[in-house]
Amino acid sequence: MGFPVTRMRRLRASERLRTLVRETRLTHEALVYPLFVCPGHGVRKEVRSMPGVANLAIDLAVKEAQEAESLGIPAVILFGLPEKKDEIASGAWIDEGIVQQATRAIKRETKQLLVVADLCLCEYMSHGHCGVVRTATNPESLLARSGKTPSDFATAPGKALQREYEIVNDATLEILAKTAVSLARAGVDIIAPSDMMDGRVGAIRAALDREGYSNTPILSYAAKFASAFYGPFREAADSAPQFGDRRSYQMDGANLREAMREIELDLEEGADMIMVKPALPYLDVIAAARQRFDVPLAAYQVSGEYAMIQAAAQQNWVDRDRVVMESLIAIKRAGADIILTYFAKDAAKMLGC
Ligand SMILES: [Zn+2]
Repeated sequence: MGFPVTRMRRLRASERLRTLVRETRLTHEALVYPLFVCPGHGVRKEVRSMPGVANLAIDLAVKEAQEAESLGIPAVILFGLPEKKDEIASGAWIDEGIVQQATRAIKRETKQLLVVADLCLCEYMSHGHCGVVRTATNPESLLARSGKTPSDFATAPGKALQREYEIVNDATLEILAKTAVSLARAGVDIIAPSDMMDGRVGAIRAALDREGYSNTPILSYAAKFASAFYGPFREAADSAPQFGDRRSYQMDGANLREAMREIELDLEEGADMIMVKPALPYLDVIAAARQRFDVPLAAYQVSGEYAMIQAAAQQNWVDRDRVVMESLIAIKRAGADIILTYFAKDAAKMLGC
């Protein structure tokens, strides 16, 4: 039945009507709030490229976590900035690691807040890659010989250099598994591997089960794309690779079918929940994953997505609050059940929680 019997505008006439027929609803219960935890006491170091986001010492991270909980946000996800970095990522898996300590403190000082731990090695490796690196020589001498600075390679990876190092998959799995067990022992509720090594979900699941953590769920960053939208995060987590890039393990942004295979494999290996990252430039991937897989689906609104909105809002070029809510609704509408976002607290306040 067409016009004039049908008038689509009838149901848009008032806010009451629009609310009544709204198809997608965002609630604070869908939000996960990321925190960057650093050593020290009372330390708050603003992240220049992410206005409103800071590296926080554990005491201040606990305060943020408490505030998030009071706003009705069900979970935080922790990223760690360790005291020191090395070639075996020891800061990731020692029991006194920064995330382990922060987890214990947050669990002690909050009531029911879930602690998710991002599980990756890049923040803890001296070379900044997500896995074990094998080189012809060592990374530092590669850099010295090339006569370039690390940032040269962030934008223009040298082809000759590319052939001289490798991120070793299987050796990395052992460290990831060891880290997952250490995080579970510290009280982490959900382990979220983000490294994109093949077989890591299976390795982590087996290690957790072996050590008595069979009830600890895995939220796998199953379809994580090699994205320029991670730029500000690398400043926040101090995790930029010192040479080369991450394209040999993170996914090519052009590939949707491959994303479905990645997700399928992670589920076969025992992932309980899956994630697509970034969110807004990959809404089609979220929608396809929603169609195809009947498991909880998360999406990460990443640092670059956050930074773009904040930068435009600071110029008064966009209405910040409306753009934030519109972007989160878009991610939800595409099919995400869970949204990891730096706007979690702002959104929860706007949602009136
Ligand atoms: Zn990483």
